[in-house]
Amino acid sequence: MSYVDEIYNYVVEKNPAQPEFHQAVKEVLESLRVVIEANEEEYRKDALLERLVTPERQILFRVPWVDDKGQVHVNNGFRIQFNSAIGPYKGGLRFHPSVNLGIIKFLGFEQIFKNSLTSLPIGGGKGGSDFDPKGKSDREVMAFCQSFMTELYRHIGADTDVPAGDIGVGGREIGYMYGQYKRIRDTYEGVLTGKGLTYGGSLARTQATGYGLLYLTEELLKCNGSDIKGKTVVVSGAGNVAIYAIEKAQQLGAKVVTCSDSTGWIYDPEGIDVALLKEVKEVKRARLTEYASARPSAEYHEGKGVWSVKCDVALPCATQNELLLDDAKQLVANGVQAVCEGANMPTSIEATQYLQDNKVLFVCGKASNAGGVATSALEMSQNSERLSWTFEEVDAKLKQIMVNIYHNIDDAARKYGMEGNYVAGANIAGFLKVAEAMKAQGIV
Ligand code: NDP
Repeated sequence: MSYVDEIYNYVVEKNPAQPEFHQAVKEVLESLRVVIEANEEEYRKDALLERLVTPERQILFRVPWVDDKGQVHVNNGFRIQFNSAIGPYKGGLRFHPSVNLGIIKFLGFEQIFKNSLTSLPIGGGKGGSDFDPKGKSDREVMAFCQSFMTELYRHIGADTDVPAGDIGVGGREIGYMYGQYKRIRDTYEGVLTGKGLTYGGSLARTQATGYGLLYLTEELLKCNGSDIKGKTVVVSGAGNVAIYAIEKAQQLGAKVVTCSDSTGWIYDPEGIDVALLKEVKEVKRARLTEYASARPSAEYHEGKGVWSVKCDVALPCATQNELLLDDAKQLVANGVQAVCEGANMPTSIEATQYLQDNKVLFVCGKASNAGGVATSALEMSQNSERLSWTFEEVDAKLKQIMVNIYHNIDDAARKYGMEGNYVAGANIAGFLKVAEAMKAQGIV
């Protein structure tokens, strides 16, 4: 049996009931097959792949907190410190009821390669909890965040592990966690990114993932003889990534006609009104029905459906496995040219294959959404030098990083005879740097 197949079976056997983690490993290993086969003897001897798929450290903890009525609740807390070969662990915290060990491991595994692709010195990690911030008062969210950090603080630090936000963790949650860390440690250090601008945050971090996604998409289209300007774009999600993807797409001259949340979706043929969307989602934390009632041109539909809308470019920006084979078929039938992932693993393996087989330009999240973590690393740099860069400086660096990522993954795909396969290009380019660093550091 090939080393790749052996390792996939090993992962399934050692990590039962973690389908998202299996899926993430499969996607990466399949596209690394050519590289691994060329170095099989050496990698096998060093058990390189066994080490790569096994987190360096897995931290699981209890998070008790008290609600406004005096009732005590208990949630599960996780931090997976997956790989520190190229830098301190770096990756977000997700607060969502669906969170479990397998989801955090899939996200942490992806993060290793994504962080490598940014060309910045950051290792891979991820964490979170099955706590649901939705419907909770600010005091309840604060109580949860303080309890979460009361355990997490001992495992993180500016040179050890620097968490950030993800689904359900925005500026409010980062603020409460930062306050508790500082209180316990009595140290003012850049231990979290995504901080507020008054206490060490970076300008452009809020926008970074969405803006970065569009900078990469713009370069992808340009290098394939097309132009983002004038394109019709469909976006899923209505959170941090989706909002700033929509904003930048519109600034670049595209028309975005959809967005969605966990209960329904909007079709707005006149183009999404970003200011209204921000008001509904960032300020009121309300449902998209409020967007539809305030905007006569918008239709609201229950459930899923954005991929049924005719478009040139599709940007999945909500969550994992939200674009399945049937959705891919609909997109292709409607003439989609490019799909770039804003979320992590939103496209299933079958859907990815179908899009690639039908010559759709497809870029996976570990390349196209890397702008968020890249700008987090820029926030770390600013914290270390105790300086703040201007919005324009950070945004220009972000754009350069995304353009470089596109060319790195394009070059890697060509070098290994898979021109246009940006999934393979991203996995190969991300992997080679990590593998080289692991080799240099010996058996650790
Ligand atoms: P947010 O919590 O800000 O927004 C998530 C959006 O997706 C919301 O609109 C939410 O709906 C919707 N959503 C979440 N879960 C589901 C679900 N199970 N089914 C349908 N809709 C869902 O998160 P982000 O925008 O930060 O993250 C979105 C994706 O991007 C995630 O995959 C994340 O890992 C990835 N990502 C985020 C980065 C960042 O910098 N924030 C960086 C790189 C990747 P509702 O409004 O109802 O909650």
